[in-house]
Amino acid sequence: MLTGMNGMICSDCVLNAYQYLEEYLSPETLGKTKKKKNQNDVKLDKVPKPKEIKDYLDQYIIGQDSAKRVLSVAVYNHYKRLAQLPDEKTEKDNDVEIEKSNIIMVGSTGTGKTLLARTIARLLDVPFTIVDATVFTEAGYVGEDVESILSRLLQVADFNVERAQRGIVFIDEIDKIARKSDNPSITRDVSGEGVQQSLLKLLEGSIVNVPPKGGRKHPDQDYIHVDTKNILFICGGAFDGIEKKIAQRLNTHTVGYDSVQNAKKIDAEDLMRYVVPQDLKSFGLIPEIIGRLPVLTYLNPLDRNALARILTEPKNSIVKQYVKLFELDGVKLTFAQETLDYIVDKAVEYKLGARGLRSIVETIMTEAMFEVPSSKKKEYVVTKDYAQKQLENELN
Ligand code: ADP
Repeated sequence: MLTGMNGMICSDCVLNAYQYLEEYLSPETLGKTKKKKNQNDVKLDKVPKPKEIKDYLDQYIIGQDSAKRVLSVAVYNHYKRLAQLPDEKTEKDNDVEIEKSNIIMVGSTGTGKTLLARTIARLLDVPFTIVDATVFTEAGYVGEDVESILSRLLQVADFNVERAQRGIVFIDEIDKIARKSDNPSITRDVSGEGVQQSLLKLLEGSIVNVPPKGGRKHPDQDYIHVDTKNILFICGGAFDGIEKKIAQRLNTHTVGYDSVQNAKKIDAEDLMRYVVPQDLKSFGLIPEIIGRLPVLTYLNPLDRNALARILTEPKNSIVKQYVKLFELDGVKLTFAQETLDYIVDKAVEYKLGARGLRSIVETIMTEAMFEVPSSKKKEYVVTKDYAQKQLENELN
């Protein structure tokens, strides 16, 4: 029992009160300095340089050179910024404050947007989470609150708030929350503009009350305070039809038509590379969101050649993964070149991009994976005839 002045309070209550305050007040109010010191332990010399980041990405991702370069620089700058944050001990504020540069990637589905973000997160060893923008609705409506993005980040960071505050969040399908027209809405648009407004708060960097278990916020719940200032947000979206907006802006006709006014030399097959923030606005992202995603880059559609390379070249390519699977059974697996060509042809036919490759190979290999481990075979060659038969069986 502790006594002081004229009152008395037991030590359990003191402890409870302290824990309560610690939970509800910011560390600054409590006079703690621990948080800030931890925050500034980023050493720039430990962060890979843009060229090294790109070399690493090259091992896993085919093509998409432009996006790789832009991302490598943006991530490097992000870490430069973290290393520059004012140090608690010296309290010497830097005169030039580097602003955060969240990223937006535009490119059709299955071209490697998620793969890029995931690969970068692995290289940097920071908490990383992927969320789908379509599950969110404006607060008060059925669906998830945007704050649940941070709940997921906290979960992958094992609820280490410091680590989560430096993580990377990939928001997929950002194009699906575009408002339906370029005009500010008169009626409420709960799954479009409303969500964009709520996302803004996270993107611009603020202290957010996060429900630890995600989902809907609830008045009786305890919240964790997460500062989003140093979280890198990477958004991705297919933006189907944005080429038309780009074409309009460039004052040319859409792909396939000859244009008389087409004075500038524009590659009509590859309009995506001309994308600028204004096109995102025409598509229905609000200017405030676009302003918070200053780094804009694009991904090319994958052609036949790129698909063929994706099948065999990346460090963990689909073919390499199956070879490894068979190797574990002591079997040497090979694919005939004409089999590989056939798989690529089918992927092109199914129009599923690189996503199609995996499902095609899986269908072809299921039977072999069932039989081979129980046989005495030491070698297994996947012929085109076999592949064709397996795929046709599946379809019939
Ligand atoms: P997106 O996010 O653009 O829709 P993903 O990154 O999820 O597409 O790609 C789906 C799958 O296709 C990935 O897991 C990967 O195996 C493969 N893939 C897509 N693009 C590439 C690429 N450029 N290089 C290597 N693999 C790719």
